[in-house]
Amino acid sequence: MSLLSQLFFLILLGVSAFFIGRRILQIRKNILLGKEEDRTDQPQRRLKTMLLVAFGQKKMFKRPIAAFLHLLIYVGFLLINLEVLEIVLDGLFGTHRLFAPLLGSFYPVLINFFEFLVVGVIFSCVVFLIRRHVLKISRFTKIEMKGWPTMDATLILVIELVLMVAILAMNGADQVLQTKAVAGYPVTGAFFFSSIFIPLFEPLSANTLIIIERVAWWGHIAGIFAFAYYITYSKHLHIFLAFPNTYFSNLKEKGEIKNMDNVTNEVKSMLGLPADPPPAEIPRFGAKDINDLSWKHLMDAYACTECGRCTDSCPANTTGKVLSPRTIMMKTRDRAEEVGESIRKGGAGLEDGKSLYGDYINKEELLACTTCNACVEACPITIDPLSIIIEMRRYMAMEESSTPQSWNAMFQNVETSFAPWKFPPTDRFNWAQDVKAKISDQ
Ligand code: SF4
Ligand code: SF4
Repeated sequence: MSLLSQLFFLILLGVSAFFIGRRILQIRKNILLGKEEDRTDQPQRRLKTMLLVAFGQKKMFKRPIAAFLHLLIYVGFLLINLEVLEIVLDGLFGTHRLFAPLLGSFYPVLINFFEFLVVGVIFSCVVFLIRRHVLKISRFTKIEMKGWPTMDATLILVIELVLMVAILAMNGADQVLQTKAVAGYPVTGAFFFSSIFIPLFEPLSANTLIIIERVAWWGHIAGIFAFAYYITYSKHLHIFLAFPNTYFSNLKEKGEIKNMDNVTNEVKSMLGLPADPPPAEIPRFGAKDINDLSWKHLMDAYACTECGRCTDSCPANTTGKVLSPRTIMMKTRDRAEEVGESIRKGGAGLEDGKSLYGDYINKEELLACTTCNACVEACPITIDPLSIIIEMRRYMAMEESSTPQSWNAMFQNVETSFAPWKFPPTDRFNWAQDVKAKISDQ
C-alpha cells in the first residue's frame, strides 16, 4: 500500500471516528433529557441478565427459526470484526494481511471460519428479506412500518449483504493473485467459500485482479465506516444498546407498577406519618413529554429494534385498537430526536409548543392499554413500553383530569370505598352471610 493510500486511510478513519463519536455523544445527551432514575442496585443480577438476554439471546429463542438466523448474523457481526481489525491495521501500517505471518498455518483456518460466518450472514439476510418482502409477515407490515421503518430494515439487510460479498470477492481475488505470485500478496493457503470466485477471476490479468481486490478492500472498510455512522440513525442501534439496556433492566417483579413517590409522600403527610420534605418545585404528575420520562425510558426507545414482538402479543392491537407498543417506542425516540436536534441547533427544544403526549402519542392509544404486561414479556431486550404508557396515563388522570367518565367513577370508588365498586367497605363480607348461616345450621 502506498504512502498516499495510508494517508487517505488515516483521514477516512479520523473523519469516520469524528462523525460517529459526535453522533454517539448526541444520542447520550438525548437520553439524558430524561429524569434521573437509579438502576445501579444488584450489579450481579444485572450482569447476569445482560449475559443471558443480550449476549445469550435468551428471549429470542421463543421463536427458534428467527432466533437461529439472528444468531448467525449476531455471531458473524461479533467475530468478523476480528478480520476488520486486520484490515484497519493493514490500512494504518500499509501492510497486507498483517496477521498471516504471525499466525502461520492457523491463519487460513481463521479466515475460513470467518468465511463460514460470512455465508451464514448472507443466508440469514436473504431469508430475512424474503420474510419481509415476499412472505410479508404481519408484524413487519403493520401501519407503523410503512415508509422509513421498512426502508431502514431493508437497507440494513442489503448493506450487510454487500459488505459480506465484498469480503468474499476480496479473498477470491487475493487467492488468484497469490497463485500468480504477484508481489505484496503472500501465500496464505486456500479459502473455501471465496474460491467460488476463482473460475471467474482466473482468466483476468494481475492488474485487473489487483483493482478488484483493492476495490473490494476499500469498499468493505469504507462501507463498514459508513454503516457504523448510519446505524446511529437506525433501529440497528440495538446491536450496541441492547447490552446497557438489558443491564439496566427493571428487576422488580413482573407487573409491579412503580409507585409515585411524591403522591406517597403527600398521603403520609396527610395521615401524620413521617414523610420526606416536599421538593422545592412541585413536579408534574406523570409524563407529558420526554423530560418527564426517565433516562431509561429514553434508552429503551433508542434500543428498540422495531421487531414488533410486543405489538404481536398486545391484546389491544390484536383486537383492532390503535395501540401498538412498538409505536409507543418509535414515537418516544422520534420526539427525543426532535428535541435533541432542536437544542443542538439552538432552537426551542422542549419549549417548541409540542409534546410527546398529544402530538406523537394520542389519548386513544393510551386508553386502549389493558396493562397486561404482554409487551414487556415479549420484548427480546427487556424494553418496557407499558411503563411509558402508565406515566402518560398518570398525566392524563392527575394533571388533565381527562380520563373517561367510567374511570373517574372507579377512581372515586377507590378513594371512598377502597375498592373499584360502589359499596361501603363494611358490606364487603355480606356475600359470606349465607355461607355462615349454612355452616351454623350443620
Ligand atoms: S400492556 Fe398494554 S401495550 Fe402492553 S401488551 Fe398489554 S395492552 Fe398492549
Ligand atoms: S419494544 Fe421490544 S418487542 Fe417491541 S418492537 Fe421494540 S424491541 Fe421489539
